[in-house]
Amino acid sequence: MKDLSQLITEVEETLTPYFKEIEKRAYENQAKVLDAFHKIKITETDLLGSTGYGYDDFGRDHLEAVYAETFKAEDALVRPQIISGTHAITVALQSLLKPGDALMYITGSPYDTLLEVIGVNGSGIESLKEYGIDYQEVPLNQGAIDVKAVLEAVTPKTKVIAIQRSKGYDQRPSITVDEIESAISQIKAVYPELIVFVDNCYGEFVEKREPIEVGADLIAGSLIKNPGGGLAKIGGYIAGRKNLVERCGYRLTAPGIGKEAGASLNALHEMYQGFFMSPHVVSQSLKGALFTSLLLERCNMQTTPSYDAPRTDLIQTVSFNSAEQMIQFCQSIQAASPVNAHFSPEPSYMPGYEDDVIMAAGTFIQGASIELTADGPIREPYEVYVQGGLTYEHVKIAVTRAVEKMLNEGLISI
Ligand SMILES: *Cc1c(COP(=O)(O)O)cnc(C)c1O
Repeated sequence: MKDLSQLITEVEETLTPYFKEIEKRAYENQAKVLDAFHKIKITETDLLGSTGYGYDDFGRDHLEAVYAETFKAEDALVRPQIISGTHAITVALQSLLKPGDALMYITGSPYDTLLEVIGVNGSGIESLKEYGIDYQEVPLNQGAIDVKAVLEAVTPKTKVIAIQRSKGYDQRPSITVDEIESAISQIKAVYPELIVFVDNCYGEFVEKREPIEVGADLIAGSLIKNPGGGLAKIGGYIAGRKNLVERCGYRLTAPGIGKEAGASLNALHEMYQGFFMSPHVVSQSLKGALFTSLLLERCNMQTTPSYDAPRTDLIQTVSFNSAEQMIQFCQSIQAASPVNAHFSPEPSYMPGYEDDVIMAAGTFIQGASIELTADGPIREPYEVYVQGGLTYEHVKIAVTRAVEKMLNEGLISI
């Protein structure tokens, strides 16, 4: 039997040129964020925050300007009052769609929690469906956006085209910014009035360009994923066309008040610093994902994407033969976490998800998947989604220990 440490040395040698590419991208994105800080002239007092109504919260307004500048958007809403990615996307969709309109997802079925927002799953209470908003879905064709089918499916009611960049908990490839560009240009050539919304969760700073740069009208994401850089303790963002972001502000707070109010309390310092750190932290997660991918592949396991495939998000999928193996792998990742390592995760119900979910998340910030986490719904084909990692070293240690355990128990061989 080959020695595991020997195998790891080989894996890292193979990955060296790919790591160089990731470092290059991090450099470019770091420059983009730094230049945005300079353009908006961030000062020390911007980091302080406000209380009460939060009127004249210049730090909050300047942070939103930094996001807008970085993502090449006209405006942005970046708030601790947006509690998660699902909330950010919900605010965006509820603002864009009115009774009688239809929403069309063109990347197949969306992320689990959004099915309840739309009204496909769950009680339907306060869903888009309850407000008389129709839902259309065009599946991917061999992993790609089926533009022809989309153009055929558009009806006079269709108002918003939604694209989910990351595969989320689905067995499909993630959609690169190039692919998003091609789809948007073809769709807008025929239907220029359609609004294109992109769920950008897990995608920020993985590529050189973001979806607004290729024609998306509005994007949204979570600050406990990429753009929070592991430091933001809460928050979500929406960025895009000014009139649409204004609507989102009205939806988030109240008509007439919109973006003008909303105290940032003590959240700004970490939101700024996290955004500044994000390109680097994303690069660490990506290196960890490549390591996970190649090491497990060399252990004869199935994992996607391959280490040499182009990436647009942080997610690495690992397949197991049974629920037991899947659970054990997640438990190994938990055991290598900095926090709660001595607790062992079990599958359980999670609000917004149809199946029981197992979640290894020994994170500093609860459920933050920019930190190393492994999770997945307990359903065939028993896929675990491994993502995040504040440092490459941590991902390497955790995945190596998980592999060691599987080797010791004879579950895999090298
Ligand atoms: C995580 C995620 C969401 C939802 O974000 P939460 O913060 O978990 O609510 C939506 N879409 C995609 C693609 C995601 O990865």
